Amino acid sequence: MAPWTRRRFFLTTLAGSLGIGTKKIFAADAPNGNGLSSLAQATAATAKGTRPLIISSSNGLNALDLGMGLLKRGHDTLDAVVAVVNVVEDDPRDNSVGYGGLPNEDGDVELDASVMHGPTRRAGAVASLRYIKNPSKVARLVMEQTDHVLLVGPGALRFAEMQGFERMNLLTNESRLAWLRWKASTTPNWAPGLDSPDWKDKVASLIDPNLPEPEKARLLAWVDDVVTHPPTGTINCLAVNEKGDISGTTTTSGLAWKIAGRVGDSPIIGAGLYVDNDVGAAGSTGRGEENIKVSGAHTIVETMRKGKSPTDACLEALSRVARNYNNDKTRLSKFYLVFYALNKDGVHGGASLWSAARGGRPRTYAVHDGSQARLVECASLLQGPSSD
Ligand code: ASP
Repeated sequence: MAPWTRRRFFLTTLAGSLGIGTKKIFAADAPNGNGLSSLAQATAATAKGTRPLIISSSNGLNALDLGMGLLKRGHDTLDAVVAVVNVVEDDPRDNSVGYGGLPNEDGDVELDASVMHGPTRRAGAVASLRYIKNPSKVARLVMEQTDHVLLVGPGALRFAEMQGFERMNLLTNESRLAWLRWKASTTPNWAPGLDSPDWKDKVASLIDPNLPEPEKARLLAWVDDVVTHPPTGTINCLAVNEKGDISGTTTTSGLAWKIAGRVGDSPIIGAGLYVDNDVGAAGSTGRGEENIKVSGAHTIVETMRKGKSPTDACLEALSRVARNYNNDKTRLSKFYLVFYALNKDGVHGGASLWSAARGGRPRTYAVHDGSQARLVECASLLQGPSSD
């Protein structure tokens, strides 16, 4: 079967198992100017493999040039993926990863990360790591310098310090402000008291009165948004080089306002990341709890091993998540989950539980196949926005 036909067949089967019509699955898949639907375009774009290839969640777009440059100069695939995610970990504006990541309910930033190196078939990970902005580098050292795979909490911090990493405050002014606002909204003692002139307006009282008005307004709107819709986010990056060697990494600050010690899918080998040098690699962003229950990344790699394309394998893993809720769309709409995958031939794919983010923006992922980094629309299991 041609890839497109096979894909349609697969989605028809999927629609049957979900109890929804194929029409619905393809509802937003209207033909565009060149006669190809966005989904068909994505399939066409990914049908033929290219090596070297590097892909990531959409927040890695601007760093993929760096990763591709390393691949083209013959660096290891693990060097390339870790270099890409380090850019995002260092960026204070990305509040889902590394420095500037939103903290847990106690105001502490706790980071999770994993790496897998295909050619040597090794893995390393850290979870609930505080004070160190590049957990992916620490995960790599767990893989390279220890006989373990996963270090957590104080043990992971001690290991990082013994390896020469320096502690830093991972809260930025913005993430600290967002936490204070969240704390005030959930714990009355953290809001101005009755005798305060500010007691009605909990947020405004936290903002520097000397800021220019437009900046104050932007900050207030952003803080309110993240308090009402606790954001999630992560970066996953996967690469295959010219020879067909594969590596991947996933790094995150996890769910905002989580319970201290909560670990998501990102550092769990087989959930937030999986690489098999004979087959391909997969990773994820979104609600880790759902992914852990289906071992998403491992499921995707095993599905690709049986001959499915990366996109179809991602959809298969998502259908297992939907099955865990008996395909109840109301519950499924409360979260988002996106899977990313590539195979050894350099074919890539990405699929999202819902076709759009809150507000209607389509879910995308970033791809660099040697010419230019670009965003590609994800395939999706269900049409519409998730409400997170
Ligand atoms: N997957 C991450 C976690 O559950 C969060 C995210 O990607 O939004 O920790």
